[in-house]
Amino acid sequence: MKLRENARFSTICVHAGQAPDPSTGAIITPIYQTSTYVQDALGVHKGYEYARTHNPTRSALEANLAAIEEGKAAFCFASGMAATGAVMTLLKTGDHVVATAGMYGGTYRLFERVLRKYDLDFTYVDTSQLRELEQAIRPTTRLVFLETPTNPMLSLTDLASACTIAHGHGIPVAVDNTFASPYVQRPIAFGADLVIHSTTKFLNGHSDGVGGAVIAVRDDHIEWLRFVQNAEGAIIGPMDAWLVLRGTKTLPIRMQRHNENAMALAEYLASHPQVAAVYYPGLASHPQHELAKRQMRGFGGLISFRLGSLERARTVLNSVRLMSLAESLGGVETLISHPATMTHASIPADQRQRVGITDDLVRVSVGIEDIEDLKDDLAQALDLLSRA
Ligand SMILES: *Cc1c(COP(=O)(O)O)cnc(C)c1O
Repeated sequence: MKLRENARFSTICVHAGQAPDPSTGAIITPIYQTSTYVQDALGVHKGYEYARTHNPTRSALEANLAAIEEGKAAFCFASGMAATGAVMTLLKTGDHVVATAGMYGGTYRLFERVLRKYDLDFTYVDTSQLRELEQAIRPTTRLVFLETPTNPMLSLTDLASACTIAHGHGIPVAVDNTFASPYVQRPIAFGADLVIHSTTKFLNGHSDGVGGAVIAVRDDHIEWLRFVQNAEGAIIGPMDAWLVLRGTKTLPIRMQRHNENAMALAEYLASHPQVAAVYYPGLASHPQHELAKRQMRGFGGLISFRLGSLERARTVLNSVRLMSLAESLGGVETLISHPATMTHASIPADQRQRVGITDDLVRVSVGIEDIEDLKDDLAQALDLLSRA
């Protein structure tokens, strides 16, 4: 399927990279569950030799994601962390990275516990404050690594301005766009050089696979990522690639519903007497609400809120019936979690406090269920607090 240049977002999601299978005409790219490909004669083959290097299911997903994120090429990996790991191999010993404080805990763990061993250096700053970003740049800085909105505080970084600052110093910018999804925000349009996804989340969307992707625009990045994907071999498997492809076809309509439900639930929580604070970019009370309106389409499916104490948070987390107590996010079903002890336990306590991940903080990945059922579920759990 050759898409017209000006195809729109939902059309791209359904069709980009999705040619009917050449051997049968199957409309859906098959799961090419194979490790090797038979050659017609010595040195004569169809472009496929060994499945770490090439797999048609993975190629279809990569073409799809490159178009969705408005990049030139995409590379898919075994997980979001493997995707970030591949991006970090663009760097070498002695290089310095400026990163968003309060980003995903696993990314922090990779940087601090693994990559410091190779003498990479990291400075974490509140990149919502552009002056802090600029001041952290050193002569050895070789990458700016941004996450917006952050997980779980939902703080935003102005992508266009941050990219202008970094590029002014000749530094490329990578953006972890997992939390927003490309329906809500496409960083390359704001100047980003590299976009990273945990496809495990909104891109798959159905909580049934783990995977990652890097989308690139620069030829030198593309050449290196293609090399390192094969050289290190942390590839996504064909079954998982196929599940993400199934997911991206419905990304726009799922995200519209995630956006709508999260907005309604954030408003409900903000008006609830038992809730101390709500963090959601769609609320006028959010410090970067104006930026959110410029940079995002809708405000995403994640909400965080404070309940005043660990005990009160525990009561709500243990009392919801429809929402599931689980890590992860971006699936069709609503998940509720406790960042301090679950997703962000690998960040030292003092640093957690500094970025606002207090023990009373609860995060919800709002699914696509009926909003009244989600409200009812939280209502009955919050009711227990007023009786305590
Ligand atoms: C989940 C997540 C990751 C890591 O992805 P995995 O697929 O679990 O390896 C990275 N960044 C963000 C923002 C995430 O939510």
